[in-house]
Amino acid sequence: MALPLPLNEFIRPLFQQIYDASPPILTSLVDQSNQIIAWGWSTTIDLTSSFMSDSHYFRICVLPTGISLALFWMLNIPLLFFNFYPNLNPIESWKIQKGRYETLDRVAWMVVVVVVNQTVAMAISMSQQNYQGLLDLNYQSGMADIPTLGDLLWQVTACCYLYDAIFFACHCLMHTKWLYHNIHKVHHKSKITIGISSAYFHPADYVFSAIAVVLPPLLVSNHVLTSCLWMTVFMFETTNAHCGYEIPFAPSAKDHDFHHSHSFYSSKEYRFVTMGAFALVWDRLFGTKQPVDDWWAKNPNGITKRMKAPVEKDQKKD
Ligand SMILES: [Zn+2]
Ligand SMILES: [Zn+2]
Repeated sequence: MALPLPLNEFIRPLFQQIYDASPPILTSLVDQSNQIIAWGWSTTIDLTSSFMSDSHYFRICVLPTGISLALFWMLNIPLLFFNFYPNLNPIESWKIQKGRYETLDRVAWMVVVVVVNQTVAMAISMSQQNYQGLLDLNYQSGMADIPTLGDLLWQVTACCYLYDAIFFACHCLMHTKWLYHNIHKVHHKSKITIGISSAYFHPADYVFSAIAVVLPPLLVSNHVLTSCLWMTVFMFETTNAHCGYEIPFAPSAKDHDFHHSHSFYSSKEYRFVTMGAFALVWDRLFGTKQPVDDWWAKNPNGITKRMKAPVEKDQKKD
């Protein structure tokens, strides 16, 4: 299969027609946005060329993963702090599992696992094999073929829906008996989501799940700028989904928080619930979001401090 899929050939003329029919104020806004995108990317090229002899390698192999790791820690260090100092937390009233926190021992272990996973991810993305694979796909990082505002808008939106579909399928596979008990259970040990839960996986699960993240931008674009923007959107989405707070105007984090607190192999009722991400398209289609909505309707305060949280049965008793 040649990548990217030839979707741009259909969508670009459509966007051009909309552009041609738009009032001058809108077309000038689009032109200015495209100039800002081109200026930003040419600055990135200049910067990376100033310290790398093979700056193409740096931009296609290091930059997207580097952006996601930098964003991960920028967003999660404050969340870790507030797990231990809830009295200082200005958003404590938005906490989903009220009064429930991870212990220092657990957090320390989670950080170790996360750092191991991120090291593995960085090693794979920086490997010669990955570089050669991207070269074979004619993956671009220069000014030629740079995506426009219209390209980025549809490509990143498409990435969100593609990710939901691929992640839903991979995640359902991970909730089958052997894969759950031997691999995916690590992610579900995080019953109280605290942000870093988003990268707290068995390394095999982390690498497998990464397919759903890295594949969508390759399917829709041949330029790494799409990947960089998608990684940024993805990091905000997955951190929000695992942050443990219901932040106003942000997508609801209650669905994935419930997946961590209630969905596990030994649960007859909730083994497969809220398995996707973003708009949860496939959960809505397969009816695996409804049980979560029903639970929240019956328990509007969620799991509180005094309430008994569901306990996952021992593997042998399942
Ligand atoms: Zn799961
Ligand atoms: Zn999760």
